Formats: sequence, structure tokens, C-alpha cells
Amino acid sequence: MLTDPDTFGTDAAPAEAGQVPSVFLKAGQDRRISAGHPWAYSNEVSIDRAAGIEAGTLVTLRRVDGKPLGVGFFNPHTLIAVRLLSREPHAHIDKAFLANRLQRALALRERFYTEPYYRLVHAEADGLPGLIVDRFGSVLVVQTNAAGMERLQPLLLDAIDSLLAPTAIVLRGDSQARALEGLPAETTVARGNLSDAVEVIEDGLVFYADVCAGQKTGWYFDQRPNRAFVAPLAQGERMLDVFCHTGGFAIRAAAAGAREVIGVDSSDSALMLAKRAATAAGLDRRCSFAREDAFAALTRFAADGTRFRLVVADPPPFARSRKDVPSALKGYRKLARLAAAVVEPGGFLFIASCSHAVEASAFAREVALGIGRTGRTGRLIRESGAGPDHPQHLHLPETAYLKTLLLQVD
Ligand code: SAH
Repeated sequence: MLTDPDTFGTDAAPAEAGQVPSVFLKAGQDRRISAGHPWAYSNEVSIDRAAGIEAGTLVTLRRVDGKPLGVGFFNPHTLIAVRLLSREPHAHIDKAFLANRLQRALALRERFYTEPYYRLVHAEADGLPGLIVDRFGSVLVVQTNAAGMERLQPLLLDAIDSLLAPTAIVLRGDSQARALEGLPAETTVARGNLSDAVEVIEDGLVFYADVCAGQKTGWYFDQRPNRAFVAPLAQGERMLDVFCHTGGFAIRAAAAGAREVIGVDSSDSALMLAKRAATAAGLDRRCSFAREDAFAALTRFAADGTRFRLVVADPPPFARSRKDVPSALKGYRKLARLAAAVVEPGGFLFIASCSHAVEASAFAREVALGIGRTGRTGRLIRESGAGPDHPQHLHLPETAYLKTLLLQVD
């Protein structure tokens, strides 16, 4: 049992030997959690009764009358005060517990993927709140985004070692969520050594990910099924991938037979990896990658008359929080307008939003308005999101952050 006696403040609920301290909900605040929701918000817990319990401490969450609802970790400084790990009130959160959850997450991925390249752990949906693990063969990239998960990290790394014996484990510490949780922003290699980008194999193609410093964990596993779906649409034709990152959509389109592929991104290091992957696949003669602002590139192509059978626009999140939503919506409208303008008649636009705070319906509306501004019309072919390695917790629909639209533009 993981308890730290130093964290029991004098005002904290008394904890018997071998027990974790308790955090009590206020009267009437248990219904949502009893129905399956995994979080208690700070305004729902009795902060007075939790005085002295430090951020990251394992606690038993209790109803006001003392009835236990489960074990989770507590953070007195964040909007989400308790994240439940188990609804079993006497659950021992130890290496075996974590190994069990990891094993379940692994078994799910192994149903869908024949090769070990995927998001292995997707936080709450895999019963491991505040934890992301991406798997690049024998290299694992771990992101802990909650103080409680950070405390469990030594046990977690042991559990990962026992289950997968990775050659390297990278601890990525640069997420925005860590700052909110009061965690340091450092990235370290916790096991093994890494001197170069790591390989990612996706449907037979080799890509390269900078797992220590690249965007997110170095590779966007979430778009994999969408890349597979749209790649063949430019067969024999020209394709444009703005915000191309390390070349996922672009190179897959070239491999599927696109005659000419142009990738545009603002990051030199991402573009270098894209070029490396194109060369490795023998597709470099059909692919060109250039550093340019995506909006500027679209405007330039619109002006010089270059048109594409397929345009992919998969930008970084335009809204980092709720207050950014109005400007993000304008951004999506503008992006859809500029991107649709360079789609040849009858061609395709694939556009994505990974902004958590932007709802799918609002995104679709802005995209339709943007296309309308070009004086053109078309049809929605497919609305989608992330792949099966990014499951959603049943009670956290807002964690379905990726929204994608495939449209045909007349
Ligand atoms: N589609 C990619 C992921 C895109 S991530 C894939 O499947 O792998 C978003 C990318 O947008 C990042 O690589 C980032 O460097 C780039 N970016 C951010 N702002 C940009 C801008 N204004 N113009 C061009 N690229 C930009």
C-alpha cells in the first residue's frame, strides 16, 4: 500500500495503519461519480476536511456520510480534485495493480494492431488517469499529467519493465497539464539511451519520430486511420499537406500513388524527419517539403493557380482553453476557406481540429461556412476522430479531442 505518513496533516481525516487518508464529498455531490464519472471537482469536495493532504496523495473518496466510493489521487490545487483509479474502496495501488491495467491496455491494442506502434495508454479510458504512454516498438514515451501519477511513476516504470522490457523509456515532461498540476517541465530518458529519432512503422511504411523533442510524443498516432482513409484519394494526382509535421499524410499519399506531394510546416526539425522518411521509402522524387506558414502557402497557391486533388489541413490546436474558442472558430473558418480554394473541382479536403474545447458540431459549422465563402459547395463524406488506440472514457466524452472531416469540393 502506498501511503506516506508525512502527508497526513493534523486536520486530515484519521487514517488507520495501512489505510490511505480520506477526502469527503460535500452533501449531495456523489451522484455523478456513483454513476461512473471518474473525477471529483474541487467545488464538490470538502476542502476543510482534506487540509494537510498534499498534491498527489492516494486517498479514499467518500460520500459525506463516510461511504467509500473508491481510491484515487488528490490534488488540492487543481480544478479536478480527485481522479479515481479504482472503485474498489480497499484497492491496493501497487505495482501489480498498475501492471494489470497496463496488461489490459496492451491486450486491447494487440486486437487492433499487428505491430507494436500505437498509443498504449490513453489515460482515464485505460483506467490510468493522467497517464499517456506511446509505444514505438521497444521505445516507450511516457507522459504523466497528474501529480498522483507522477508519485506512482517508480512503480509504473517497474510495471512497464516487467511487461514489455523496453530498451528505452522517455519521460516527456513538457505538457501544459503538468504545469497546472505543479509538476516540473523536464524531459528525461529514464531507461536506456537514445541518440537518434526512433522508427515508427505504419502500414508498412517507415517514419521517424523525435520522441524527446518532437511535437506531442513525436508522432501523431491518433490520425493513423484517417491517413489510411485519405491517402489513396490523390492517386495519379497532386496532393498538398499543410501542417505536415513529419510527413504522415504526405508520404502515405505518395506511397498510395500520388503523382506529386507538397508538404508545408513551420518546423524545420519535423520537415527533416519527413524528408528522411520520403527518402527511405524511395518517394523523395515525388515529395517536396518546405518550411512555410500554412496560411501563407495556401494564399500563394490560390494566387498562382496551383490546384490539388487532395488537401490535408491538420493544424495544431487553435484553442488551448475555453476562452480561446471564439478565435479558434474563426481560425477554422479561415483555414477551410483558404484550403478549399486550392482544391480542384471534384477534389477532396481533409480538415481536422484537435482543440479539446471546440465541439464537433461547431467545428463542422465553421468549415461549412469557410467553404461557402469561396462560393463553392460540396459534400461531407466522412466525419471521424482518433483511432482505436485512443479510446474514450464512457463518462468523459470531452476527451474525444480529435474531430476530422473529409469533404468533396465541387
Ligand atoms: N498532420 C500531422 C500532424 C500535424 S501537427 C501528422 O499526421 O503527423 C501540427 C503541425 O503544425 C506541427 O508540425 C507544427 O510544426 C505545425 N505548425 C504550427 N503552426 C504552423 C503554421 N502556422 N504553419 C505551418 N505549420 C505550422
